[in-house]
Amino acid sequence: MSQNDHPATAAPTFDVAAIRRDFPILQRQMHGKPLVWLDSAATAQKPQVVIDRVVRYYEQENSNIHRGTHTLAEVACDAYDDARDSVAVFLNAATQDEIVFVRGTTEGLNLLAALFSDSLLKPGDEILLTQAEHHANIVPWQFAAKKSGAVIRVAPVDDNGDLILAAYERLLGPRTKVVSITHISNALGTVMPIREMTQMAKRVGATVVIDGAQGIPHRRVDVQDIGCDFYVFSGHKLFAPCGIGAVYGRHELWQQLPPWQGGGSMVQQVTFEHSTYATPPKRFEAGTPAVASAAGLGAAIDYLNSIGLEAIEHYETELLAYALEEIRKVNGLRVIGMPKERGGVISFVMDGLPDLQVAKLLDAQGIAVRAGTHCAQPILARFGLQSTLRPSFAFYNTREEVDVLVETLRGISARR
Ligand code: PMP
Repeated sequence: MSQNDHPATAAPTFDVAAIRRDFPILQRQMHGKPLVWLDSAATAQKPQVVIDRVVRYYEQENSNIHRGTHTLAEVACDAYDDARDSVAVFLNAATQDEIVFVRGTTEGLNLLAALFSDSLLKPGDEILLTQAEHHANIVPWQFAAKKSGAVIRVAPVDDNGDLILAAYERLLGPRTKVVSITHISNALGTVMPIREMTQMAKRVGATVVIDGAQGIPHRRVDVQDIGCDFYVFSGHKLFAPCGIGAVYGRHELWQQLPPWQGGGSMVQQVTFEHSTYATPPKRFEAGTPAVASAAGLGAAIDYLNSIGLEAIEHYETELLAYALEEIRKVNGLRVIGMPKERGGVISFVMDGLPDLQVAKLLDAQGIAVRAGTHCAQPILARFGLQSTLRPSFAFYNTREEVDVLVETLRGISARR
């Protein structure tokens, strides 16, 4: 689809059939049935414009990115810089230098945890997380705590899967140096009140990190409006290729942080005795980056802008409400978590049926959903579970696909 086919404010006329034609994989069959992709929280499918951008990069533009050596190096450098610009504008960062490219959310959170354990965190300091975090926003902080002597505190969620804001506020204090919280829970779909949580954390002077892996595909993100210090996300969940993600960080904070990995590009002068380091963002980008994937991320952002983020959010909200209503009607099915605001995912279990078995039966009908821990064991344990089934939705899914899922679940439930 060309950009002109998607007016900027297209909420009432969201043409999902046209959008689906933009995604080649959605045209394929699985086990003789149309593929019903309900696993976008694990990774989103890629529109043709993103695939074409990566192909064009390798066919026409491939080079390592050291400006000034030859023309293709300039072209590749421009592709990489343009992608950084696109991300900066997409997040409403103040400058493009606030965007550090990484492999994805996991690497971004590891980067921050490692940097903070070398600079910000001291023995007795506190790192505050929520109970709904992905392992990628728990384990790196455990490393940081072990290295620095800081301790981890955890803000609880209630039976609906919503954060208990008063408990979170009580946990904030003068020792809280870092607050690292998910934007949207990948296991329950809870949209966290990140703006309010950030304001509260700022009152005690904490550095606020947002894990945006599930947030950015479903909500407009304005880092200045949220007021956070860092926002981390993965390109592959945002319809872009694997191997690229970004960490937004406030300019003055990046400036104060020491380097992480050492190597080419992150240095100014090197002798065997001593090295001096480049300014951010390059200081944190040692080695050859994923240039083609970065260009693909830029193309994904252009594509999303051409549809309109408001139109996407509006369509997805209605689709998710419909899916929740229908899924809940299936006999013997229990939805886990009923948060006030939900984004992207619905988690459930079926009485007497192992999750993996249900997932396999759905797969046989061409329906791809995830079954398992979703790399979020603590929040499942909070609900007395080790795993759930988790269909997850994007703007290319339809009510008809929800109907196919629900009908198939009814059949599975009836056969027990
Ligand atoms: N945080 C959340 C909330 C996630 O859903 C995921 C991916 N499942 C991650 C972090 C890790 O993302 P990635 O695997 O792309 O690094």
